[in-house]
Formats: sequence, structure tokens, C-alpha cells
Amino acid sequence: MSGGYGSREVTIVGAGLAGLTAALNLARDGKEVRVLEKYDRPGGIPLAHPAVDVTPMDPGPLGKFIGVELAEPYVWKCREFTTYAYGRKIPMDADASNTYCVERGHRKTALDYHLYELCIEAGVTFEFGMPFVSQGDFASLPIDSIVATGLYFEAFEAFNIPYQKVFGYLGKGRSSRDYPCCAAWFHDYTLDYAYYGACNGAVFCLYFAREPVNVDEFDRFCSEQLLGQEGMECQRWDYYEGLVATGAYNTPRLFAGDKILAGTVSGMMDPFALFGVHGSLASGKIAAMAHSDKAEAFRLFKLFNRYYNRSLTVRRVFDATPVAVRKALLGPALAYVQSHIDRLAESMNNLNKSIPGYRQLPQG
Ligand SMILES: Cc1cc2nc3c(=O)[nH]c(=O)nc-3n(C[C@H](O)[C@H](O)[C@H](O)COP(=O)(O)OP(=O)(O)OC[C@H]3O[C@@H](n4cnc5c(N)ncnc54)[C@H](O)[C@@H]3O)c2cc1C
Repeated sequence: MSGGYGSREVTIVGAGLAGLTAALNLARDGKEVRVLEKYDRPGGIPLAHPAVDVTPMDPGPLGKFIGVELAEPYVWKCREFTTYAYGRKIPMDADASNTYCVERGHRKTALDYHLYELCIEAGVTFEFGMPFVSQGDFASLPIDSIVATGLYFEAFEAFNIPYQKVFGYLGKGRSSRDYPCCAAWFHDYTLDYAYYGACNGAVFCLYFAREPVNVDEFDRFCSEQLLGQEGMECQRWDYYEGLVATGAYNTPRLFAGDKILAGTVSGMMDPFALFGVHGSLASGKIAAMAHSDKAEAFRLFKLFNRYYNRSLTVRRVFDATPVAVRKALLGPALAYVQSHIDRLAESMNNLNKSIPGYRQLPQG
């Protein structure tokens, strides 16, 4: 396989947000970049597409950092953001919370596809249908190859990166609203939360369930909550088993042996709310930098992930809190935030700093 330390040729595994951002930046720096992808198209899990990820985001500064304009139709500011905490409806201030909807997948309006087109223009080559399965597959990559394989088991196992399993359902369909919006539900049945995001006519829903999945609860969620409270319906649902990079403290790592990690496989995600979009985009740029300046790349990596342990502690406390206590506290807490958003907006943005790179890049 081509490439290696100091070589002009670079190999990247994974054509998702982080891998494509790394590829684009390296190609613009004059490298010969080859991306190897498991599926037959960019953007990961084809059955989930078109997906709509929801995330707090700094599109201006982040776009400048990665060299890509993060704008419509790929990235939309959310116009409506509603939270339901144990049956209580709490409309949130979408503007103050900087919440965005990002279309994922292979449609022309998806961010992955946009990055892919920019990569093609910059001369990156792609090989699809190339799954890396074993430790040996990853070991056979040249030195300084970038592994950007997202929240899939293979690389986590091969590099011995701690993770936690998650279970649930992925739903997709046509949005009943013609503007970007999202909602999140905190309830007994969710491990974390259930949510949907909608933009560009598509709606995407993720229902995290405790194991074993209670099908009656899930049916109730679809009919009474998703449809009844928000008027949204998914035409297709698929069972999902996956992982998140929250298996241990100090999970984030830029290097694994002689390889560079990028995106969620590097642990660059928010361990509390599990937002991964912001960190993966920033991480693609950092992985590209690591080719020419490892020290500077590592400095930025540590800086962007410095709230990881704090946020993981909050998550562990939340997980250990009995449902009755959550019920008693979460609704009033969210309602308080919503009604005092003017005063609390800055503190909310500080909380969001556990999202790697958020509010850590020069603003304006
Ligand atoms: C169902 C789901 C919903 C999510 N929703 C949100 C959300 O709403 N907001 C948010 O901020 N984050 C969300 N996330 C986190 C999300 O993973 C990140 O936002 C983002 O996709 C991470 O980018 P990435 O580049 O690390 O991984 P990905 O974008 O997933 O890209 C990884 C790429 O590597 C390829 N690949 C994987 N394994 C291999 C292999 N062994 N060999 C070759 N290629 C491989 C994949 O096919 C994929 O193309 C969600 C994650 C999942 C799984």
C-alpha cells in the first residue's frame, strides 16, 4: 500500500465527516490522497440516509478552520427546537442554543456529499467497497495513515479503544414541516434521549432504548410522541446496535501506534449529549495537520478535548441518578433554562464547550 512517513501519498480509511475533511485539507496541501471506504458511497450507514444530525455548532469559525463553508443546504440553523422532559413540553430558544441541522449521506444536499465533491475537485481518489475488518488490516496501512471510521466496532476493537454499546431504532421519512426543526425527549424508556431532526424535506429520528427493547414503549413513542406531539412520522424504522466513545476517562487519542485517528474513533465527541458532528469536522483538519506538524496538531487536539473528563463525569452521574430523581429535576431545570435564556445563554454556551472545538476557535 502506498504512503508512509513523510510521503506525498496519504491513505485514509473512512469517507465520513472526519475522513473527507482530512482528505480535502491534505489534497489542498499538495498530497496525493486515497480514501478507502467500506460502503459503496460516502457518509457511512446507507440505510440511515438521508439522515439529519442535530448539533450545537459554530459554523463560521469552524468553516474557516476546516476550509469549507458550512451553510445551507448542508447546514441549517434550527428554527424550532422543543424538548419534552417526562411528559412536560419545553420549547427551547433555538437561536440562543446555536442548534443546527446537518443533512448526512449521499444526496446533493448532504454535507458528506458536498465534502466528497470538494475532494474530487481537489484530486482525491476513492475506493469504495473496502471494509477494514481485522487488526491485521489496519496494521497493513502505511505509517501515518488516517483512520476515520466513526462509531463502528472494527477500529475500536483493533486499536483497543474503550467504548459503550448503544441500542435503538433509526427512523427516516418525509418531514411534515418545510423549515429546519428538531425535538428531543427525555423519558423512562430512553438510555440517553430520543430525538428527531428535519431539514431539506427529510426527517430522521434516533430512539435509544434500554435493552431489551420494549416494543410497546417504542410503538407508543412513535404514535403518541413523535406523531402526536410533533406531527412527524417515519416511513421506515431499522433496529440499530452501535457504540459511543465513552468507555473510559481519557478516551480521546490522536495517535494509535503509527496511525493517526480522526473523528469519533479518536474520541472527539461530546461524552454527555453524544454530539459528534462538530468534533469530527474539526478533527479532520487536526489529523491533516498531524502529517506535517504532530506537536501543533496534538496541542490543538488536547485543547479541543479538555472538557472530555468533566463531561463524562456529568454523564456518569446522570446515568446513576434514579429515574424518579431525574423526573423531579430535569423538567423544572430545563424550564428554568428556557425562561431565563437571556441570562443563561453564555453559561449554556460554556456547557457546550464539551463539544470539541465549540467556542474554542476565533469568533468573527
Ligand atoms: C445513528 C447515529 C446518529 C447520530 N446523530 C448525531 C447527531 O444528531 N448529532 C451529532 O452531533 N452527532 C451524531 N452522531 C455522531 C456521529 O457519528 C458524528 O456526528 C459523525 O458522523 C462522526 O463523523 P466521523 O467522521 O467520525 O464518522 P462517520 O461520519 O460515521 O464516518 C465514518 C466512515 O468510515 C466508514 N467505515 C467505518 N468502518 C469502516 C471500516 N472498518 N473500513 C472501512 N470504512 C469504514 C463508514 O462507512 C463511514 O463512511 C450520530 C451517530 C450515529 C451512529
